Amino acid sequence: MSDCLFCKIIAGKIPSKKVYEDGQIFAFSDINPQAPTHILVIPKRHIDGLKEAKAEDAEIIGQCHLVAAKLARERGIENGYRTVYNVGAGAGQTVFHLHLHLLGGRTLRWPPG
Ligand code: AMP
Ligand code: ZN
Repeated sequence: MSDCLFCKIIAGKIPSKKVYEDGQIFAFSDINPQAPTHILVIPKRHIDGLKEAKAEDAEIIGQCHLVAAKLARERGIENGYRTVYNVGAGAGQTVFHLHLHLLGGRTLRWPPG
């Protein structure tokens, strides 16, 4: 989608701090980190968000989670990290290209705010 911020990041039209890429997935550091590790894992194929995901998106959603787990392992934050989808404006979703937050490297309280 030409007007999507994260599609532009994937295409390299907007700079980002890439931490992982494969044929279907891109991951980069969040510009406004909420924890020492705050990475966004996104499918290269544009999906608006979790509630817009369809059955054919199941595999890529699972792969995004496995990439998050791999990055957490590599960064040594397996003592405690969190993967989060903010779904809809009421939950704080501001970018409408599906993105999985990986947060870790500090104590994470429950429930989240
Ligand atoms: P959400 O609020 O769940 O939609 O998450 C969007 C995230 O994208 C926020 O954590 C922002 O800090 C992050 N973000 C926005 N613009 C950029 C950017 N240009 N590069 C990296 N992260 C960004
Ligand atoms: Zn997009």
